Amino acid sequence: MSTETLRIAAWYARARWLTSFRSRPRLERFQRRILRSQLRFLRRRSAWFGRLPAGDLSDLPVLDKASMMAHFNELVTVPVDRDEAMALAIAAERSRTFDAELHGCTIGLSTGTSGHRGLFLVSPRERAQWAGTVLARTLPRLRGQRIALFLRAGGDLYETVGSRTVRFEYFDTFRPVAEHVDRLTELDPTILVGPPSVLRGLVDAVADGSLRISPAKVYSVAEVLTPLDEERIREGFGVPLVHQIYQCTEGFLGHTCEAGTLHLNEDIVHVEREHLDERRFVPVITDFRRRTQPIVRYRMGDVLVLRESPCPCGSAMTALERIEGREDDVLRLAGRDGTTVPVYADLVTRAVAYADGVVEYRVVQTGAAEVRVELDPPSGDAADAVVVELRRLFAVQGVADVRITVAPFEHDPSRKLRRVERLP
Ligand SMILES: [Zn+2]
Repeated sequence: MSTETLRIAAWYARARWLTSFRSRPRLERFQRRILRSQLRFLRRRSAWFGRLPAGDLSDLPVLDKASMMAHFNELVTVPVDRDEAMALAIAAERSRTFDAELHGCTIGLSTGTSGHRGLFLVSPRERAQWAGTVLARTLPRLRGQRIALFLRAGGDLYETVGSRTVRFEYFDTFRPVAEHVDRLTELDPTILVGPPSVLRGLVDAVADGSLRISPAKVYSVAEVLTPLDEERIREGFGVPLVHQIYQCTEGFLGHTCEAGTLHLNEDIVHVEREHLDERRFVPVITDFRRRTQPIVRYRMGDVLVLRESPCPCGSAMTALERIEGREDDVLRLAGRDGTTVPVYADLVTRAVAYADGVVEYRVVQTGAAEVRVELDPPSGDAADAVVVELRRLFAVQGVADVRITVAPFEHDPSRKLRRVERLP
């Protein structure tokens, strides 16, 4: 076995058998201890943290993508220059080789659709730790599994986990589904991992008979899994539930337990909540172990929704109802009383789900009182029903008159599919 495989195996074992928290106080004690040693390390090795006055986590500044990029060179604990790393990462993504490396570290780009792109550096040790932990948390057993991974980018990060007992194949979501059919049929995956938009495409191929696979487990990654997509994917593959992995360049943040509830990985990251209302919050995360590029009090910009009742699985990790999307997936429309009314993405996707016969859709806010609905089919009863449902929703929410236009649904597969989006 290579050093890399040994490292992954060690982290796999550690994540699988050593850390399992069923008591919240025990989990919090563990967090305080690991956080102390992480901050001690960062004060010694990162110029940014070395300059800050000593104190607790809550005394440190909150960073977002823009401020992290602005202080990148001081934050990181390796001599990597931001502009050089960014140029390398963009070139690698353009050529679709995904193997940009600098000082032995893998460079990743976060797929921000608005504003600046984020840059993420991971050392080989951190990579092995990530792979081992993801595997341990998501796979009941490794032996005999055949795993198909549909990912937009970052192939290199994922290819490390192949070995004799388990087979991984990487599929580039940049290519159309039809091009993957032969290789996918040959692999006959036991586990299928991909963004919901891609899983939907595979379900269609199964339905029309062009693809024959029957995975035992299906995982949704990278995009928000809406209730409508969840239902279609679950029924299309005949699985009891669609699992979710909440994972991005910022870290491995959560995954579904066997009861089907999404839990935050609070033994890997500390999560502070910036509440929007009683149950919705924006997570501010601190990774306990990433040292090449520290992730400390990093504001994600995602909107998460807390689960109302505790999960029957008994885990001490925070249980979520769902990941609602990005903050800019929240529509902000002019209200009847002159204020701005937030209309959350899940309300919009639910309203669309009430309309029968919709195959694909996107709802995009293009102005203070303007919404464009992209639909497949773009006209007929289904389209009329969507407009009626949206008007009903907006009225209930106290929104003033909104101009709703309907356009044909188009999705570029090289980009993340966002069902609900507010344009800046
Ligand atoms: Zn659970």
